Amino acid sequence: MSGETSEDATRLPAAVVQAIYRHARATFPNECCGFVIGSGEDAQLIECENMQDRYHAVDPATYPRTAATAYTFGGKHLRMLADSLDSDRPATIVYHSHPRVGAYFSAEDTRAALSAGWPVDYLVVDCQDDEIREALLFRKHATDPAFVEIARFDGAKI
Ligand SMILES: [Zn+2]
Repeated sequence: MSGETSEDATRLPAAVVQAIYRHARATFPNECCGFVIGSGEDAQLIECENMQDRYHAVDPATYPRTAATAYTFGGKHLRMLADSLDSDRPATIVYHSHPRVGAYFSAEDTRAALSAGWPVDYLVVDCQDDEIREALLFRKHATDPAFVEIARFDGAKI
C-alpha cells in the first residue's frame, strides 16, 4: 500500500515543483527544506525553516555543518511530518536543495534518511547562482541501504 503512495509521488504537479524551486532560490546560498503531503493533484507543499544554523550555533559538535551544506527540521515540522504518516494524507516526499553542488544523494543524505526511516521519497534540487538546473527524486532501494533515482524534473530560470 505504501508502495502505491510512493508511486504516486513521482507525479508531482508542476505548480508544486515551481514552488519548491522558488523556496530553494529564497534560501540560496543556504539549503531549503520541506515536505509534500499527499500526491498528484492533491499534493500539498509544507515549506519548513532550515534550523541547521541555529542548532550549529548552540551545539557545533553535534551539528558541525551550517545551513550552507545541511538541513534540519524544527520540532514543529518534525511532529507534523510524523503525524501525517499515521494519517489518511501521509507525507510522500521530503525535499531539500543543494546550493551549487548538484542534485546527487549524498552520503550525509543517505545517513539521515536511513536514520529517520520515513516511508517517503527524497527530492534534491540543484540550485545554481543563475538557475535551478534540475531536481532528482530518490527512493530507497528495496534491499540495499542505498537510494536510487526514480524521477527527474526539468529546471527553471528561477
Ligand atoms: Zn543533501
